[in-house]
Amino acid sequence: MAIDPKLLEILVCPEDHAPLEPVELPGPVRTRLVEHFREQLKDEEPVVETGLRCTRCGRVYPVVSDIPVMLLDEALAPGEVES
Ligand SMILES: [Zn+2]
Repeated sequence: MAIDPKLLEILVCPEDHAPLEPVELPGPVRTRLVEHFREQLKDEEPVVETGLRCTRCGRVYPVVSDIPVMLLDEALAPGEVES
């Protein structure tokens, strides 16, 4: 799954407004996020493969079923996703 480049251009980190870069999420992180977001998407199985990493603070915002979740509360901590 690819992020729309035009969408990526306008998205920024909600914390520091820095640009984001797409990253592949490792298997264990995907599994954990799928379980987490399954509770919120009651009627569909969430698809989590990619995240958007802030180029400044390093937080990673998960992309869930093609929708970037740009919430600080849902962000992965810097360093949680290695690349
Ligand atoms: Zn940031």
